[in-house]
Amino acid sequence: MPPDSAARPCGICAIINRIKSGAFADFVAELPRSWIILGDAQFYRGYCVLFAKRHVTEPHLMPRGEAHELLDEMLAVGKAISTVTSPLKLNYECLGNQEPHVHWHIFPRYADDALRLQPIWLRPEKERKVSLEVVANRVLIADLRTAIARSIPAARWPAAL
Ligand SMILES: [Zn+2]
Repeated sequence: MPPDSAARPCGICAIINRIKSGAFADFVAELPRSWIILGDAQFYRGYCVLFAKRHVTEPHLMPRGEAHELLDEMLAVGKAISTVTSPLKLNYECLGNQEPHVHWHIFPRYADDALRLQPIWLRPEKERKVSLEVVANRVLIADLRTAIARSIPAARWPAAL
């Protein structure tokens, strides 16, 4: 039997297809090597996920130059989140245990988080998986776009969003 990850379609490729079709509400930006979305755990306000455009399971399986460009994009997104949200610390996680497609979770951590010394996953899902109010969500996405574009002028997003 193949492992689960080989037996079903990639969930991240499915999200990327939704972004491309304009059906993903919290899309932030398209960069040359990645797609950026606002994550679903806005207890950590500004949390973003960066998806590699190329479907591979590990960064080292990418052409070396492409992997370095992707890492530069991750740094630019981290800098943008830091600029916009002024966190105590950023947490970067490249896991891929559930989806076989390189992606980074970038979490801002805040001083008033009682669990700030712990990995974010220790906070119960119902506490961390919260959405921002609609206007705050739009303002956050707009501010992140502006900050990302300062580092990566090639950043793109639909004009209507
Ligand atoms: Zn994929």
